[in-house]
Amino acid sequence: MLEITKENIEKAIEKARATKPKVRVIEFRRYAVTNKTTGANYEVKFYKIGNQKFADCTCPATKVCYHIGASIGAHIVLAEQMHTATA
Ligand SMILES: [Zn+2]
Repeated sequence: MLEITKENIEKAIEKARATKPKVRVIEFRRYAVTNKTTGANYEVKFYKIGNQKFADCTCPATKVCYHIGASIGAHIVLAEQMHTATA
C-alpha cells in the first residue's frame, strides 16, 4: 500500500496528463486503467485510514504511479458526489 502525499500525487497526475490513459470505474474506490498505446490494463484501489490516503496499483511500480494519478481525478469527483448525497 502506498501513501498518497501532495507531492507524489502531483507528479503522478502530471505523468497521467502526458500519458492520457483510459480510466474506468469498477466501483467506488476501484478503477481500471488502460494504457491506450500498449493496451496494458491495471487496477487501482484507494483506501482512507484516518486522515491518510493510500492507494494500490497492480502494475510493477513501487511508488505512486500515473495509473493512480489518472484514477484520482475520477475518484475525487465520485467521493464528492457521495459526500453531497449523504450530506
Ligand atoms: Zn500503476
